[in-house]
Amino acid sequence: MGFRGADLYELDSLLNEEQRLIRKTAREFVDEEVLPIIKGAFEVRRFPTELIPRLGELGFLGANLEGYGAAGVDELSYGLVMEELERGDSAIRSFASVQGGLVMWPIYTFGSEEQKERWLPRLARGEAVGCFGLTEPEFGSNPGGLQTRADRDGDYYVLNGVKTWITNATLADVALVWARTDEGIRGFLVERGTPGFTQAKIEHKMSLRTSDTGELVFTDCRIPAENMLPQAQGLKPALMCLNQARYSIAWGAVGAALACYEEARAYALERVQFGRPIGSFQLIQEKLAEMLTEITKAQLLVFRLAQLKEEGRADHVQISLAKRNNVAMAQMVARSAREILGANGITLDYQAVRHLMNLEAVKTYEGTHEIHTLILGEAITGLSAFK
Ligand SMILES: Cc1cc2nc3c(=O)[nH]c(=O)nc-3n(C[C@H](O)[C@H](O)[C@H](O)COP(=O)(O)OP(=O)(O)OC[C@H]3O[C@@H](n4cnc5c(N)ncnc54)[C@H](O)[C@@H]3O)c2cc1C
Repeated sequence: MGFRGADLYELDSLLNEEQRLIRKTAREFVDEEVLPIIKGAFEVRRFPTELIPRLGELGFLGANLEGYGAAGVDELSYGLVMEELERGDSAIRSFASVQGGLVMWPIYTFGSEEQKERWLPRLARGEAVGCFGLTEPEFGSNPGGLQTRADRDGDYYVLNGVKTWITNATLADVALVWARTDEGIRGFLVERGTPGFTQAKIEHKMSLRTSDTGELVFTDCRIPAENMLPQAQGLKPALMCLNQARYSIAWGAVGAALACYEEARAYALERVQFGRPIGSFQLIQEKLAEMLTEITKAQLLVFRLAQLKEEGRADHVQISLAKRNNVAMAQMVARSAREILGANGITLDYQAVRHLMNLEAVKTYEGTHEIHTLILGEAITGLSAFK
């Protein structure tokens, strides 16, 4: 029997036909095309590029956008796709949420008509890959301090600076780069092959090994002035993009947790010690009970968040709470699953340790756990503790 997913509170009964079909399509894709190859890809730190056109064909890239070749699904369906992709691997969801939430969404929201027509259909089909360059070597949690410069020179801007820890960095055909100009922070579309633009991989990662993570370096890189996103002014648009990606993470983390929970539950029923299945021991049952409880709470959070987002009412605090909670939840579930699996739990023949390692990075990117704590703290008290 294929993956069914825990659903103690019968959330599936709230899905309409279309949402069920989209989830089924994503589920089959993960079972048939992601899971069979992911262990090998993780081991050799390779992003499975053969999946990119498939993600496009299935309509999973920028799926919640309307027009320009995007699938135009509702926010709940989009979340269900992200959940399934991360059940496969956090790197696959990361690829899709960067492409959709951090590249397509800002072009769609802040771009010119020419920029939308040039990039969105190709990005939706997976014929082009995008990345989002905000983080710099000296500015991670505090992106407002970014130092990359874009100086106007006639019909061009000249970019100088370094972006690091960028998902899809070496695969990208187009990088959305946030840089400081005389008029404040602006977003620029920089195309692969532009003189002065180099893309390099970060090696030796132990987390998100399957993801393409790297550095973007700009040295007197001249780009046409029309490559600037006309409607994005200041840091706020960049932070708005992060909310899109954090929404995907909140859903995706549930998928990673479900993969670990299902695996641990099956193992606990099969593995015999002291003459009995280990699932019959109270200490194992306590772990499983805790896992299911936290997964169920996280599922309820993202379901409600999807409704709010669909109504255009999901605010950054609600999204922060869900990202913070669900990633920490998934880490706890992955760790408990790994323990239940005993020695087998440390091999890639099972999924738990891969998810556990991946979630270390998921906890850090798109706002670390601590930064989301501060966002909540500020919302609760009205007092900022960032500085
Ligand atoms: C695999 C991966 C992929 C990524 N992809 C992208 C991408 O596509 N695009 C992009 O722009 N960036 C990306 N990032 C960067 C990511 O967003 C940053 O790593 C993150 O914002 C944290 O920045 P930092 O690593 O510099 O840590 P720092 O900001 O140096 O933080 C170090 C520690 O200090 C804590 N800290 C910082 N400030 C405070 C404070 N005020 N109070 C309390 N604690 C604090 C942090 O929580 C953390 O624990 C990626 C990162 C990873 C690991």
